[in-house]
Amino acid sequence: MRMKDETKCLHAGYTPKNGEPRVLPIVQSTTYVYESAAQVAEIFDDPIKGLCYSRFANPTVMAVEEKIAALEGGVGAMCTTSGQAATLLSILNICRAGDSIVSVAQIYGGTINLFAFTLKKLGIECIFVDVDATDDELRAAFRPNTKLLFGETIANPALTVLDIERFAKIAHEMEVPLIVDNTFATPVLCKPFDFGADIVIHSTSKYMDGHAVQVGGVIVDSGKFDWTRGKFPELTQPDESYHGISYTESYGDMAYIVKARMQLMRDFGVYPAAHSAFLLNLGLETLAVRMKQYCENAMTVAKYLESSPMVEKVIYPGLPSNPHYALAQKYLKGASGVISFIIKGGRPAAAKFMDALHLASNEVHVADIRTCVLHPASETHRQLTDEQLAAAGINGGMIRFSVGLENIDDILADLDTALKSL
Ligand code: PLP
Repeated sequence: MRMKDETKCLHAGYTPKNGEPRVLPIVQSTTYVYESAAQVAEIFDDPIKGLCYSRFANPTVMAVEEKIAALEGGVGAMCTTSGQAATLLSILNICRAGDSIVSVAQIYGGTINLFAFTLKKLGIECIFVDVDATDDELRAAFRPNTKLLFGETIANPALTVLDIERFAKIAHEMEVPLIVDNTFATPVLCKPFDFGADIVIHSTSKYMDGHAVQVGGVIVDSGKFDWTRGKFPELTQPDESYHGISYTESYGDMAYIVKARMQLMRDFGVYPAAHSAFLLNLGLETLAVRMKQYCENAMTVAKYLESSPMVEKVIYPGLPSNPHYALAQKYLKGASGVISFIIKGGRPAAAKFMDALHLASNEVHVADIRTCVLHPASETHRQLTDEQLAAAGINGGMIRFSVGLENIDDILADLDTALKSL
């Protein structure tokens, strides 16, 4: 049955049969029982034919994977214990020591650390490009050993918008996939596969979960990238760690996501617990309706902040004044609930403002059901000097405001009180 997003959020991935539970059951078991050794052997030969161990797959987690794949329009998905694990495995699935990757510079700070330092130690070099790089600048970043291009739909915390179609075109010209982190947009606001992206990843800890109850991630495969053109022998040639299987020959358009599970999940073991997937599913059930409200509330807050004499600048791609407004109009059904803004008076004014908020909570989180706020200069980026902060595009007066689902009048009243305290 063809379903729209609101319906997929509720029904994709789990359809109870006669007499079965209405709600997705938590299958709290590490293992699965078979009648004969031959049956278990058959699953070892082809683990996607059945369940053998909950480090590879679990029915509760698989239902959530199917729901997210349906929302993104992919052929398959694999959940991980965190967004970081999803990013790491999405890269390692097609890169090895001696390879390089090209990534947009405006991405989540944790991903920058992973790419610039940890991947480097593993022998994978990352070349960073500006999100607004021209086609030629982008092409110039590629080397013969480059295996992928990476960017975020709406970047955390820069809130830049990726020109997915243009980046996908260049990636394909270079015969590599485009991997998009779609965390802030979610498939409700943007479906990167519709614009040519090949792999999507998420930190499900953000809007997908939405309630700040579990950390998780997911990798989704569009099934559209042709891995057989020569750059990816690990997908086409026999895998000696899996009795000589060729992923493209055996699994066709699911080669990438099956390899991620059979090889990397087997070896790295970062599969989520059934209970975490159950909680994630509860968040996903309301994702479509929540996203609409986050966007509506955030747009009102962004306009309010833009009109305040205490605010120097508002960064929100839904505002016509934003340099990425045209891209936001093209790619997004809403600009999410996250806003960055710069308060006049720099760091001391930002600290005073933060302390004067009552409803918005001061915490290291974003994209939650409750409004929350963070001061990058004194929190996530506190080790940097003012000069280093400026180089990273972070102003001492900058505040990241994640608009929640409280009544908009209450959110505005809280902001008003805090701004008047300055
Ligand atoms: N990607 C983005 C855009 C994020 O904002 C984050 C975390 O904030 C991550 C990835 C990492 O996800 P996690 O914290 O679930 O490991």
